[in-house]
Parts: sequence; structure tokens; C-alpha cells
Amino acid sequence: MSVKRIALFGSTGSIGTQCLDVIAANPDKFSAAILTAQTNDELLVQQALAFKPILVVIGDADKYQKVKNALAGTATQVLAGANALEEAAGTDVYDMMLAAIVGYAGLKPTLKAIEIKKNIALANKETLVVAGDIVMERAANAGVQILPVDSEHAAIFQCLVGEDNNPIEKIILTASGGPFLGKKPNWLVNVKRDHALQHPNWSMGAKISIDSATLMNKGLEMIEAKWLFHLKPNQIQVVVHPQSILHSMVQFEDGSMKAQMGLPDMKLPIQYAMAYPQRIKNAFPRYDFRKPNTLTFEEPDTRTFRNLLLATEALRKGGNMPCILNAANEIAVYAFLKNRIGFLDMTEVVERTMQKITFLEKPSLDDYFESDGEARSFAASLIQM
Ligand code: NAD
Ligand code: MG
Repeated sequence: MSVKRIALFGSTGSIGTQCLDVIAANPDKFSAAILTAQTNDELLVQQALAFKPILVVIGDADKYQKVKNALAGTATQVLAGANALEEAAGTDVYDMMLAAIVGYAGLKPTLKAIEIKKNIALANKETLVVAGDIVMERAANAGVQILPVDSEHAAIFQCLVGEDNNPIEKIILTASGGPFLGKKPNWLVNVKRDHALQHPNWSMGAKISIDSATLMNKGLEMIEAKWLFHLKPNQIQVVVHPQSILHSMVQFEDGSMKAQMGLPDMKLPIQYAMAYPQRIKNAFPRYDFRKPNTLTFEEPDTRTFRNLLLATEALRKGGNMPCILNAANEIAVYAFLKNRIGFLDMTEVVERTMQKITFLEKPSLDDYFESDGEARSFAASLIQM
């Protein structure tokens, strides 16, 4: 295969840096055409000097001159500011976007990439939570492939290879249960950010680490799965599997189930999405069934981790409800990370915002933008109190 030029949106994050590891290990297969970062200019410059992209974007416009000076004498062009992400996404210098920005901010650049018919390796699940109907419809109309990077969805995608016309009875998303598996609300009420950031199996960015601790991550993933695999809400089940070896399963109409397995390492789904339909040989550690190990499965404790119920409600209701849930959750998570609200307050903020914002059954893209803004202001007003 010829060298695939990757536009890596969110290159300084957990997914972004692991994507660059994959590119560095496979210079005959991939190059980095665009790199973007929000605030970490030093790492962005370091990455740009190593990977020589055509274009870099620093979101924080105050850092433009610093990045520009550091890359003077190189061929890399520098853009900065809020609109620069979309401008970069619309520049025809790449073959595939790896969407690894965190949160709602990933939506617009991804839509722009679809507009210029670039395939998307999608890590940014919030894009589908906010506007999954529009994103999937535009991708289908443009003939663009959306290849999931989220490990559960990458697992399901792999289980479906070769099953073109075989209907799915249901999918089973596995959840590690996060760092607080087995804990109850009277214990969780005292949890602080540093503890919540310690995930047992995965090393990830701050926002998704908190989402994993509250199980909101699994809720967002249910909504992500609905759009990726065209499922009805009652076809999506969640099971807790603390060892994170089975990355998810599909059950077909004959009752037969397929699962995709492996050690928890995001580089695997990242390189699968980037190289699809090929698999790339690598030296990543392998899971060994001969070693003593137990794989366990249990039902999630939704009485404690109520975010999963709220996300299920948003999934069932559809319309702008997942967008509202996501916006309120982003506000709540960042407030928790700043020690402004407690662990259980995050659920409260999301629930009250879902009750407050006007429900729209068939929102337009502008309606989604508006609902996002309204939900953010309302959620923020709850935190002021
Ligand atoms: P991270 O916080 O480590 O990195 C986020 C990246 O996005 C950084 O490069 C940052 O500069 C950029 N960014 C942040 N805010 C931005 C904004 N407002 N505008 C533009 N850029 C911005 O996050 P991560 O853990 O790498 O996660 C990225 C996405 O991938 C998330 O949507 C997450 O849910 C998803 N994901 C991550 C993992 C994982 O293992 N980390 C697994 C599955 C899915
Ligand atoms: Mg996941």
C-alpha cells in the first residue's frame, strides 16, 4: 500500500501520541500530514520537528508566535485559533483523519473532513453522541468510511467483517467498571479527582478517565454504537468485565456470538483503523491463556452508577437528548477536575440539565449547536450555586 497521509487532530493527547507511535513504527505505511493541539505547544513543536507535517494547528492563539518561531526554517505551515481546526480539516493534504480531539470540539473538524470526502478513524466518541444522525448520513452520502478507534467499537467492527447481510440480534459492550467497581454512593461521595484519574487497565486523557470512573463513558459508547452499527436501543447491552481482555461481542440471529480479544492497548485499534482492511505485524505484548487468569463478567450496578441510566434514557429518547447529556457531562467533568463539585454531583448536574433543556425530536445541525450551548450554560449555572 502507498503511504497514507494522516491528519491527526488532537496529536498531543493519549490517543494522539499513541497514533504517532504507530506512524513512527510504520514509516512505509503512514505519514503525519497535519498535527493539532489545543494548549501543549511544546509537545506540538517537538512532534512537528520529528514528523515534518505539512500543517500544524495550535488552538490557543496566544501561542501562535511561539510555535511559528520554533518551526521557522521548516516547511511546516502554522495555523492558530478556533477556526483554524476547520480550515486545516478542509485542506486537501491528507488521506485520512484520525479524530482524537476530546469532546464536542471534535465535531466540526470531523464534519469538514467528511465534506472533502476523507475517511475518518474516529476516536472522538462525542462527535457521534452529539450529532450521530447527521454525521452518519453525511458520511454515507459522501462515500466516507467511519472506522471506530474506541476499543469496544473496533471490536464489534472486527466481529462484523464478513457478516455483511447477517442481522445482529444484539451487541454486548464490555466495561472495565473503572477504578470504583464495587463501591457504593456513601463511599463515592468523598472521592477526589486524583483518585478518580487512576484507571486500573487503561492510561487515558483526564476527561475519559473520569467518564470511566462514573460509567458515563459506557453510556456515551452505547449511543456511539447505535449510530455506528445502526442498532435499536434494546439491541445494546453492557456487561462489566474488569480484566478488559474481551473488548466487546456481537450476537447474531442464530444465537452465535463473536468476540474480539487482546491485551488492553489502544495502539491495536488505532493501527487497525488506520490500516483497514489490512492488519499490521507488530511486537506488542500478547495475551497468554496458559498463565493463571480468570475472566469474569457481571451486571453493571446502575443504582450506584446512575450515569448509565441517564445515558440509556438519552439513547431511548433520541433527538437532542444525547447532545444535552454530553454538554452537561463535559461541564460537570471539568468542574470535578477543578475540585469544584463532588463525584456524585456530576450525575446530578447531568440529570437536572436533561430535565431543563427543551427536547427536540428531529434537530438540525444548528439545533444541536444551540442545544449544546444552552445545556452548557444551564449546567454551569448549577455549579455556580
Ligand atoms: P486527551 O485529553 O489525552 O487529548 C485530547 C487532545 O485533544 C489533545 O491533543 C488536546 O490538545 C486536544 N484538545 C483538547 N481540547 C480541545 C479543544 N477544545 N479544541 C481542540 N483540540 C482540543 O484525550 P484522549 O484520552 O486522547 O481522548 C481523545 C478522544 O478519544 C476522546 O473523545 C476519548 O473519548 C476518545 N477515546 C480515548 C481513549 C483513550 O484510551 N485515551 C480510548 C477510547 C476513546
Ligand atoms: Mg472505549
